[in-house]
Formats: sequence, structure tokens, C-alpha cells
Amino acid sequence: MALNVIMLGAPGAGKGTQAERFARQRGLPKISTGDILRQGIKDNWPVAMVAKAKMDRGELVDDQTMVAIVRERLKQPDTDAGFVLDGFPRTVSQAQALDSIIHERSKGPLIVVDIDVPEAELVRRLAGRRICSKCGENAGPDDGDACRRCGGNLISRADDSEAVVRERLKVYHRATEPLVGFYRGRPTFRTVNGAQVADAVARDLDATISDAAGEGVRAMGAQRSAGR
Ligand code: AMP
Repeated sequence: MALNVIMLGAPGAGKGTQAERFARQRGLPKISTGDILRQGIKDNWPVAMVAKAKMDRGELVDDQTMVAIVRERLKQPDTDAGFVLDGFPRTVSQAQALDSIIHERSKGPLIVVDIDVPEAELVRRLAGRRICSKCGENAGPDDGDACRRCGGNLISRADDSEAVVRERLKVYHRATEPLVGFYRGRPTFRTVNGAQVADAVARDLDATISDAAGEGVRAMGAQRSAGR
């Protein structure tokens, strides 16, 4: 059964880092819609060039574009055993579209993990967040000047200036936080305390995703035997 995981959480909650770690550990592709768009901008991909102005302001790119990107990406055979999505869905409408994509794939349940971090800690982390100019690896406020993966230069992301950070948190509370309500009632929804050190978050995530996967398979079995 495929392991389909989405990670929710505010910007700065550690979604990207944790998604990367978990995906590597389980041999699954980590799919970050922000990375796809940033790569698209480097490659002068027209759709991404249109999205760029919104990204620079900390606003969301339209649902139709994002759903089309994810729908295409999830058709790739490297997602057959599952995937870890980071940064998608970000609106209830994207979540509804993802439900249909998962349903069409019929390759296992969707596991939803919300990484919870208090607002003050989010602002501290976001203000000090950088990205490697060479390989795109994320770095936090306590990570020095060189990329831990390739030694490249760490630079601030264009969308991490203070005004943009505030805008991104506002957008998160308005558009993305309602997703927690959308998913909360499902047997495969879990919350993890993201205010701990990264290793502890990773341990909790691993245990909780395994548990939710078991629950999801049982729920799917029950749905099938009820003829739904
Ligand atoms: P991220 O790297 O996930 O923080 O994404 C960077 C920016 O890309 C966001 O601030 C949005 O402008 C855009 N973006 C990425 N994923 C989505 C999405 N699922 N829906 C709308 N906009 C997105």
C-alpha cells in the first residue's frame, strides 16, 4: 500500500526539513510545490514566471495552476509507492482536488500531519531562514554561513523579508489554517509538536505516520467491505 503523506503547518514550522528527512528515510519522493515553482523560475517556465510576482509578495498562487502542477507530478512513476507533499495543499479547494487525485490513483490512503509551532517561534525562525544559492537546501537561524549539504553560500529567500514574513503568516491563518478543520475528523489526521528539536520532531513524525498508515488501511478496508 502506498504511503501518501501531506505535511501541514505554518511557514517556519519545519515542514520542508521534516518532509525531506522522512521522504529520504522511507525512499519516497518529496514533492515541494514551492521548489517546483522556484525551479520553474530558474528555467524561465512561463507558468512559474506568472507565479513569481505573487511569490515575491508572499501571496498564494492560484489554485488551478497549483492543482495542475501537482496532478501532473503525481502521475510520475516514482510516486507509485507514495510521496511526501510539502506546501500543498494550501487551501480547502486544493485539498478537495487532492482528494479526487488520491481517489483516482487508488493507491492507499492520505495521511495528514499537522506540525504545530507557536507564533512567536515561527517569526524567530522565519526571520533567520536561508536557502543555499547552489543546491537549494534550507537552513535555519542557527546554521552558520555555509550549506551543510554542499558548502554553498546561504542567502535569504526573497520571500523572507520581515514584511513578507508577516504577509505569509497572515495568508497562512486565512487560507491554510482552515485545512486543519477540513482534515481533523479523519482517522488518518495527526498533530505533531513542532516546537521541539528537529530530531525529536522527526522521531514523533515517524511513529505517528506509521500509526496513521495502519489506521488508514483499516479505514479503507472498512469502506470497501461497506461497498463504498
Ligand atoms: P514554499 O516554499 O512552500 O513556502 O512556497 C513559496 C511560495 O510559492 C508561496 O509563498 C506561494 O507564493 C507559492 N506556493 C507554493 N505552494 C503553493 C500552493 N500549494 N498554493 C499556492 N501557492 C503556493
